[in-house]
Amino acid sequence: MGSSPIERAIFKVGEKVKVREQLEKVRKSLEGYENVTLVAATKYMDVDHTRSLVEAGITHLGENRTDMFLEKYEALKEYSNVKWHFFGTLQSRKVRDVVNKIDYLHSLDRTSLAVELNKRLEKPLDCFVQVNISAEDNKGGVPVHKLIPFIKSLGQYPKIRVIGLMCIAPFTFDQQVVEDTFKKMRELQLDVQDLELDFAPCTELSMGMSNDYKLAVKHGATYIRLGRVFL
Ligand SMILES: *Cc1c(COP(=O)(O)O)cnc(C)c1O
Repeated sequence: MGSSPIERAIFKVGEKVKVREQLEKVRKSLEGYENVTLVAATKYMDVDHTRSLVEAGITHLGENRTDMFLEKYEALKEYSNVKWHFFGTLQSRKVRDVVNKIDYLHSLDRTSLAVELNKRLEKPLDCFVQVNISAEDNKGGVPVHKLIPFIKSLGQYPKIRVIGLMCIAPFTFDQQVVEDTFKKMRELQLDVQDLELDFAPCTELSMGMSNDYKLAVKHGATYIRLGRVFL
């Protein structure tokens, strides 16, 4: 990238065209899945890059670090139609910084977090319970065998609405493993729906990233989180 104002302006126009093309490609591959919400994962992007996504028509943005979320949230405040998602590990002591600014939380995975959220929320928050679907030690999320009791326990916290489940599929080139993971998530979603809990309608599934979102929507994802496709 050049450093003169003209070079910078040319770079910015090029950047906008690129984002529009990337978005067009993703939208094409989602034809027939009109119920899927595309959330742009902005963790690899600076504020200007994120702004170019919004100008290209993306209205759902997601971050996974509180400091980066706050920076972008403040910088992009003028776009009142933007909805903010948070999908990183959320430490209880950081809850106060983000809690009444985000529209969706994808990483609800423990009671202490539910307690803290419930204490600080001004109105109910749409949450996804994160499931450690592939039982990997290094990943957040509720273990599968604890999912149902955990969700039932959330009835104590009136500010928490469980709109769905979220997972990060294992990183592997074995498509079958990824597909089985998404199928299992869909079954878990139906298990939660069968409980018929008012506070946990569980109508949504947040799964699918740049490398696996096409498989995810095939198996019932309604929110996909894409970052690298926009780089
Ligand atoms: C970064 C991130 C994404 C997006 O991943 P890409 O591979 O860049 O599409 C989705 N979900 C979570 C939780 C992330 O941290």
